[in-house]
Amino acid sequence: MTITRRRFLGRSGLLAASSVALPHLARGADATPARDGQQPRHIIHLVADGMSVGTLTCADHLSHLLRQRGLTWWELCRRPGTHTAWMNMRSLNSLVTDSSAASSSWGSGSRIVNGTVNILPDGRALKPLYELFGQAGWKRALVTTTEITHATPAGFAASGLKREAADFIAVQYLERGIEILLGGGQTFFDPAKRKDKRDLLADYRAAGYAVMNDAAALKSAPADKRWLGIFTPSHLPYTIDHVADPKALAAVPTLAAMTRRALEKLEREEHFIMQVEGGRVDHACHNNDAAAALRDQIAFDEAIDVCVEFQQRHPDTLLVMTTDHGNANPGLNGTGANYGNSSPLFANVKQVKSSFPEILKQLGKKENPAEIQAIIRDATGYDVPAEKAAAFAPFLAKKGRALYDIMSSPVIQLGQLLGNQLGIGWTSGSHTADYVPLAAVGPGAERFQGFIQNTDVFHHYLALAKIDFRNPEVPLLAECGPSAEDVEVAEAYWNAEAVV
Ligand SMILES: [Zn+2]
Repeated sequence: MTITRRRFLGRSGLLAASSVALPHLARGADATPARDGQQPRHIIHLVADGMSVGTLTCADHLSHLLRQRGLTWWELCRRPGTHTAWMNMRSLNSLVTDSSAASSSWGSGSRIVNGTVNILPDGRALKPLYELFGQAGWKRALVTTTEITHATPAGFAASGLKREAADFIAVQYLERGIEILLGGGQTFFDPAKRKDKRDLLADYRAAGYAVMNDAAALKSAPADKRWLGIFTPSHLPYTIDHVADPKALAAVPTLAAMTRRALEKLEREEHFIMQVEGGRVDHACHNNDAAAALRDQIAFDEAIDVCVEFQQRHPDTLLVMTTDHGNANPGLNGTGANYGNSSPLFANVKQVKSSFPEILKQLGKKENPAEIQAIIRDATGYDVPAEKAAAFAPFLAKKGRALYDIMSSPVIQLGQLLGNQLGIGWTSGSHTADYVPLAAVGPGAERFQGFIQNTDVFHHYLALAKIDFRNPEVPLLAECGPSAEDVEVAEAYWNAEAVV
């Protein structure tokens, strides 16, 4: 293989010395302007799960308040070598996708029914991206803050399943020999908790994996083995709770730390593809929890920093950063005369000390407004007026009914209440149909511009890796009915334990 001047410079570190301008990029810093037709040797696909445009915008504002600089995502967008796009993420059966249909659209090139992983409604399993890349000799990595078997990582490396079939997804990763798996979800590997009682950890070890359970083990993980790093029983903690708990901070790595270690291992490989997911942005938005969502978005941006730094040393790396769908579409509302209250209200986000699940644990079903006021004041800095605390209490007891039906849960009402303090409003507690933003840097980035379909991502990655393959596709269910038969097939599928 010929080594180009650029690659030589990248390998020798000379390029890095001349152009690295992190922690944040100087304007015009040249990592890798995309050159049409170049093939990347490495692909990194970064997903902030459930990131509405308002989340990305507000996280930039919060980043300025906390770190005196904006998000690297937006800095990259200002650079000449970056391509940006809008992407339609709809699924086979709905304008609003779930995470598994979204990731599967990237992972198979086919739109499928929400709640399923790489399978058509008629039961045909689709070949996932990581199987094809593995056959072509590429190393593959999944790094996430959710359970490693969760929908977004699964869409790249599992097939023919319901998204809830985490036990089976854990087995499929092993069967496909995915080289790096880092995230949460110990439960699905533990023989005491798995339905089939299989000692999957022993099977992973027998297959040559180093199995890690804490940040220290990840730091010293042997480079010559495959890695299974699962650091919590379920998802990794929200960043806002993680940084406040020294014990958790020592035991559980951040997304940036996992990404850095994965790249240190992959750096010596000829070809690799890695998915990095900031998965808890989505969970926080389901909860209408602005502080948790924005801090996780910033933590995701720190993982982008790690990848940009890698890409500056290895310019033959394609970085694609995007989201799989909007979620609850938070936005900083204009309030006060000339909207003059908006900025000071937004600055109150800094005062919030914990995630909503932690606050709700303390609130329980409390009915006394004074107790509710004290807990919320302590956790968020908000002096809730007594009448608002009284109006909130029935929702804690699940007796309240919001005028918009889907907003009656205690957690959503806590988000509404905090809107008075933070200035941030929400559309619901669920995913939205918005077209999503995407930014790409490096060889092949020119394919990602303008307006694209979610399924295009699969075809672009395959073309860039010179893999010739196409999965079957079927017409959109919404456009053709859905017919009674379609519904029956889909229902039968949802009710099945697993289709392997
Ligand atoms: Zn999602």
